[in-house]
Amino acid sequence: MTDTPSPADTASTDTPTFAQLGLQERILANVARAGYAAPSPIQALAIPPILAGKDVEALSRTGSGKTAAFALPLVQKLLADPRPAATAQEGVPGVVRTLILSPTRELASQTATAIRTCAHGCQLMIGLAIGGVPKDRQTRALRGGADILVATPGRLLDHLADGTIGLDQTTCLVLDEADRMLELGFIEDIQSIAERLPTRHQTLLFSATMPPAVATLARRLLHRPLHVAPPEATAPPPRIRQQVAFVAAARKNATLIALLRRDTPERVMVFTRTKQASDSVARALESAGLSAAALHGDHSQARRDRTLATFRRGTLRVLVATDVMARGIDIDDVTLVVNYDIPEQPETYIHRIGRTARAGRRGTALSLCAPEERQLLREIERQTSARITAIDPT
Ligand code: AMP
Repeated sequence: MTDTPSPADTASTDTPTFAQLGLQERILANVARAGYAAPSPIQALAIPPILAGKDVEALSRTGSGKTAAFALPLVQKLLADPRPAATAQEGVPGVVRTLILSPTRELASQTATAIRTCAHGCQLMIGLAIGGVPKDRQTRALRGGADILVATPGRLLDHLADGTIGLDQTTCLVLDEADRMLELGFIEDIQSIAERLPTRHQTLLFSATMPPAVATLARRLLHRPLHVAPPEATAPPPRIRQQVAFVAAARKNATLIALLRRDTPERVMVFTRTKQASDSVARALESAGLSAAALHGDHSQARRDRTLATFRRGTLRVLVATDVMARGIDIDDVTLVVNYDIPEQPETYIHRIGRTARAGRRGTALSLCAPEERQLLREIERQTSARITAIDPT
């Protein structure tokens, strides 16, 4: 991985080292192996209280290093407390020691990969329970339990109902991208999952935004939490150049095609509110000879994986995605984010444009704004204090 720590995301002279945060040799070796020179702000703030066993409510978005912020201390804690004998016995649910809930399959897989990096050589069992893949194979893999299980709520509940795994010995629950999980309607699933844990357990909640529903969930599930919010979590990263082109709705495709031909950005994510729009924009770009594909929830898991893989490799240049699909996808090097429509929620705007300028790089976010969307744009500018520069779309 070629991540270079960004000035905003990492070291200043008073940044502690990973060792000063309380991480031990074994974990430090994995940190060095991953190439992380210094903790990111969220890591500096969250690792010590997590090691100390406290509940933590952290404001942090994808790209801030949040996964390692919880994975590194949790792996260390698991190593300090040797695993009880495996329970791969007929009729006995597998023990899950630490549970991480993710909103989407894509994010869950990425998180599991990041955890494997943090746990390299530690011989921990890292499990994945996500929908879209056959349950049988997962069931066989999970019967013996997991030191860390990364799961989406629906598939996890399936496995719990089947008795494949149990949460009565789970000592830590992580809610990753809590705002996104609530947007996707997982509130009841999360509550019924949390109820299955023993009374005493550690809960960590990570969220890019803190709308009232997330605050309520945190109040319900976290016990005297420590609130952690690195300064950059509350504003869009300054490395993103924010632009708007004022165009009629009917001219959006032509404008986008002209801009992509003129500026030839390398890796582009176009956001649309609906699946239909994502299909039709991808088709329009393709007919104009641009390398583009849609990514949305109507596609099979295999197709989504293929699309993402080609985008990651760089053979696909433009990914046209719905918000639901795109959230949490960890792809660095997105040079341009296009808001094909103006999002109704300022939070969605922040999430969308956060796909670019990752890991210290620079990026551009361009919004295509039709006259009837101007009010939405004004609201975004007001709520996020964004400086969005108008550009000539011709
Ligand atoms: P996340 O916010 O967990 O999605 O992480 C975003 C990216 O930052 C991932 O590719 C990580 O490998 C990388 N990363 C995490 N911690 C650090 C660090 N301390 N220094 C440099 N890169 C990091």
